[in-house]
Amino acid sequence: MRSLGYSQPIAGGQTFRVSKSLKVCLLEPLIQSKARLVIIGAGIVGCSAAYHLAQLGWRGIVVLDAGPLFHTGGSTSHAPGGLSLISASRLLTEYAKYGLPLYAGLEANGRKGATLIGGLEVARSEARWNELKRRSGWGKSYGVECHLLTPAECKQLVPVLDKRQIVGGLFSPGAGIGAPVVASEAMARAAMAKEAAAFHGHTVVTGIERDARRVKAVLTDQGRIETEAVLICAGIWGPLIGRMAGIVIPLMPMEHQYVKVGPIPELAAFGKEIAMPIVRVHDHLMYCRMHGDQWGMGNYNHVPLPVEPDTIRQHRDSNGEPSKNPFTPEHFQEPFEGVSTVFPMVRGKPITDSFNGLFSFTPDGLPIMGPHPDVDDLWLAEAIWITHAGGAGRAIAEWMTGGVPSLDVREADVSRFHPHALTKSYVRVRGDESYKNTHLIIHPSEPMRRPRGIRRTPFYDRYVAQQAVFIEMGGWERAAWCESNASLAEPAPRVPARSGWAAQYWSPVQAAEHLRTREAAALFDMSTFTKIEIEGPDSLALAQWVFTNQMDVRVGRVVYTLMLDFNGGMRSDMTVARLAADRFRILSGAGAGPRDLAWLRRQAQARGFNVRLNDVTSAYGAIGLWGPKAREILAAVTEDDVSNSGFPYYTAREIIIGAAHGYAMRVSYVGEPGWEIYIPTDYAVGVWDALWEVGRPLGLIAAGMGAMDSLRIEKGYRRLGFDMDANYNPLEAGMEHVIRWKKGEGSTGSQRGFIGREALLKLKEKPLTCQLACLTLDNPGDVVMGREPILEAGRVVGFVSSANTGYSVSQHVAYGYLPVELAVPGTKLSIEYFDQKVPATVAAEPLFDPRGERVRA
Ligand code: FAD
Repeated sequence: MRSLGYSQPIAGGQTFRVSKSLKVCLLEPLIQSKARLVIIGAGIVGCSAAYHLAQLGWRGIVVLDAGPLFHTGGSTSHAPGGLSLISASRLLTEYAKYGLPLYAGLEANGRKGATLIGGLEVARSEARWNELKRRSGWGKSYGVECHLLTPAECKQLVPVLDKRQIVGGLFSPGAGIGAPVVASEAMARAAMAKEAAAFHGHTVVTGIERDARRVKAVLTDQGRIETEAVLICAGIWGPLIGRMAGIVIPLMPMEHQYVKVGPIPELAAFGKEIAMPIVRVHDHLMYCRMHGDQWGMGNYNHVPLPVEPDTIRQHRDSNGEPSKNPFTPEHFQEPFEGVSTVFPMVRGKPITDSFNGLFSFTPDGLPIMGPHPDVDDLWLAEAIWITHAGGAGRAIAEWMTGGVPSLDVREADVSRFHPHALTKSYVRVRGDESYKNTHLIIHPSEPMRRPRGIRRTPFYDRYVAQQAVFIEMGGWERAAWCESNASLAEPAPRVPARSGWAAQYWSPVQAAEHLRTREAAALFDMSTFTKIEIEGPDSLALAQWVFTNQMDVRVGRVVYTLMLDFNGGMRSDMTVARLAADRFRILSGAGAGPRDLAWLRRQAQARGFNVRLNDVTSAYGAIGLWGPKAREILAAVTEDDVSNSGFPYYTAREIIIGAAHGYAMRVSYVGEPGWEIYIPTDYAVGVWDALWEVGRPLGLIAAGMGAMDSLRIEKGYRRLGFDMDANYNPLEAGMEHVIRWKKGEGSTGSQRGFIGREALLKLKEKPLTCQLACLTLDNPGDVVMGREPILEAGRVVGFVSSANTGYSVSQHVAYGYLPVELAVPGTKLSIEYFDQKVPATVAAEPLFDPRGERVRA
């Protein structure tokens, strides 16, 4: 498997051992009046950011904290320091893989930043045991050493557990227990030793000065600091600091219980502070660690306890511990009973310490990082765990230095939020849900539970009438499939029915909808995809600069293109129609839209292009009409010429359907002939009904996203965020056909090249090391879902980036990046699905209609 190389120290990096005697400036107020960068918050995130910026050569950094250094009273000051490596998120895993050894190499005041003694996750139920197998797969996929253990083997590692109470465990030797304040102080002192940063405790930030576009200064109770940039690392106080700058930081501080009991003779016998791995007892939503002769227990097994940021106590009113709220014993009783079954030694032992600690939960449970889309030079590094702060600090430093972090950061990007995700009510509900989800088993296709029904497309009622099963994306209600099509599922489709885990949030109706699209036609609701318009005299110049494909096409042409970052990594993909000489409409993903818009705005501003960028998503309903009968259906409702010669593939133009003016694009994400039709929202249902009426006798159905995904995978269309992200480049993804290397050659300045071209040219000079490959599973009935490790002779060589069943080709399909020598059709590999080895073969792609004859028909 290609390593992303993130585990290596940052350039110029080294680990630091800093003793108390080192002469460094731990400044108490008086503060300086000018800085290159002000970091607000000296918890582990602020310290990590300062450390990594210092490594990259930054100077003139001022770090401010309202509390005393470095036990500031923030979340870092009382986190028990559980450091785990395995996560569903590759990004977070990479951050941990980098950060944990970093902490272990740090020292301050004679104490180490982390003890990497391992992490053990135990299962008390069969369902959880299966989940541990799945987590073991994630670990292997992302390069983390981990082992499934029997109860007896677990007991060898953690002698104080009752092995009769568990089914098994998952052990990762590289995990462990951090000393967060020690790691913070060591990183801060290293930054100070380089004379890169000055740290000021007891300094309260009271305001941020900015003009319409950029930050100017930070106001504190010790004076004003004029600054070129601000980085907010204020943890649970982030929303309050954000408000000072006029922005919303969508996180919710939540109370989380931590309790120590003891003394316990079985622990005292070890004679050490830490003598065994940290243990996660997921079934009880708890984790446990040793503190000498005490046993510490963290508890998520209680009702969510949100805390409005405005009500967090001040440092001065809280005995220096504003992020500790009083313990609520009623929330601990039952979980304690549960966990004491596994650790009987804790029964009857007195509580020696207990509190409800506060830390941040975001709408999607992921960090909030990067440059704020609305205010220049205002940066965020918020909602980051101790475990991830090392890697996140490095990413922020890389981002601030070179414009792009070296790992794809889309999951954590502050620009990812739709407007509704910034509202108080949404953040509050999602905070609760994220808290509850921390240890739950979440199925990859499981839709968000709360809140729902935030955005409805014009066709929502039509889907309700078809008994659609809805999922959520970007706040939208989207049909996964329509139960009204259940009768089409008989006789059984060509692929065996799924069972167990693979059958959850899935239906054979998806297969029926897929096949009906290939045989007749289907309507898909495309309204949820983001629609962005570029208008103005420099529209073409911007399009040429941000997109890889040739955008200087005649009006009415449609272009499929990639958008790269400056490292040549794949940021996004989109379909773009040229509406007029100075106007383009971009269709990008529902999830990717806000981030795409923010990037486009930033690039336009950086080059001073005279353009307007508008998100017009809500202005149009969009229908995908696809299938061999699509033309016949469209021809029946319009007088426009929709013949193949009259309306060729990859063209677009206005169309009148009944009384509605629409804009039709002859493109397809499913590999069938047809159109995406964009209609002003108020006219959209009428167009749907017109198509429905003429299409029904021809076999037209309304189909959902499940069918769309299976149609696209057998056609070899890559899925953004799964098969394509910035960790890979278009050469590796097999997307060179949308790169126009010579675009703008001969011209100068803004007409020349495109973002990522120079980096990509350098990459092109070297032989490819990995390539996106299509695999098919050898045995009918086998299924994989995504993120599972791909193995060659027992060695992990990649992981599944996306997977689904190709119902027309009667095969289950998986994509994944493989070493080039293995990405050759016919190569025999296996995929680890839970603990089963599923045989698979690399196949020539695309599997369906390889010559693309159907879409052009
Ligand atoms: P903080 O440490 O809170 O730092 C923010 C700083 O900003 C504070 O020092 C504060 O004083 C300062 N500040 C705020 N407002 C101002 C202002 N106006 N002016 C100046 N300074 C200001 N994570 C793990 O990885 N593993 C665990 O096992 C784990 N367990 C946890 C258990 C508990 C009980 C808690 C509470 C948290 C736990 N966490 C754990 C989460 C982790 O502690 C936090 O995510 C992390 O410490 C956040 O670091 P930070 O630097 O962003 O925030």
